[in-house]
Amino acid sequence: MSVIPGPLLYEGKAKRVFASDREDVVLVEFKNDATAFNALKREQLEDKGRLNCQISARLFELLEREGIPTHYLGLLDETWMAVQRVEVIPLEVVLRNVATGSLCKQTPIPAGTSLEPALLDVYYKDDSLGDPLLTEARLELLQLVTRERHREMETLARRVNAALIPFFQGLELQLVDFKLELGCNGQGELLVADEISPDTCRLWDLRTQDPQARILDKDRFRQDLGGVIEAYGEVCKRVQGACPNPRNYR
Ligand code: UDP
Repeated sequence: MSVIPGPLLYEGKAKRVFASDREDVVLVEFKNDATAFNALKREQLEDKGRLNCQISARLFELLEREGIPTHYLGLLDETWMAVQRVEVIPLEVVLRNVATGSLCKQTPIPAGTSLEPALLDVYYKDDSLGDPLLTEARLELLQLVTRERHREMETLARRVNAALIPFFQGLELQLVDFKLELGCNGQGELLVADEISPDTCRLWDLRTQDPQARILDKDRFRQDLGGVIEAYGEVCKRVQGACPNPRNYR
């Protein structure tokens, strides 16, 4: 790689972030560690890093083609990508098109209910607090973002959903829900950051009705269904088919 990796800046559950010889560019390495339930469940899954890196790269490129700004700059190799240095806002924005997961644990809404318009939930990103769901009033109280930036985040997240739904539909995948992290670059622009992968999206295979076989995302790991890497590999195969040549960063 022509860009030179610098020191490790941050290690998360699924990725490592390194500085580079370029001020505004950081390098992200996707790891094979799988975690769930606030890292109470942990495993190494061979090839997960590569699959998530390859899927994420293509989804970021798709968003850019739709005019949605992301931190992505290009791939360095199979498990590494270059991204803009951003300050990540410690909020997780979840978009839900179909009710499942925590929504169904916390409310009487039946699993499988279609949500139109999509439900947007904001969580405070803090493992020690268990990433709590925020109300609008609590979000305002925390003063992490201005009201204007909050609106901008919601608009961006809904645009991401509007771009991803038909893309996945074309691959015979249903985008059930997903989590986004957003950040600000040095110019103060709001960008989609982190990753978009089967670790952060629920994707159901429209080629089967079977409620377990259709799961092609981290729920296979959470629920001990097996076939996690096979499922991620299937998503990657379909995404690669639609976007064969991701750009390389030089
Ligand atoms: N999600 C995520 N990271 C988190 C929490 C949720 O990527 O820390 C994703 C999750 O994979 C799903 C969506 O956000 O696609 C909604 O998750 P939910 O709130 O239903 O939580 P869960 O069922 O995972 O507890």
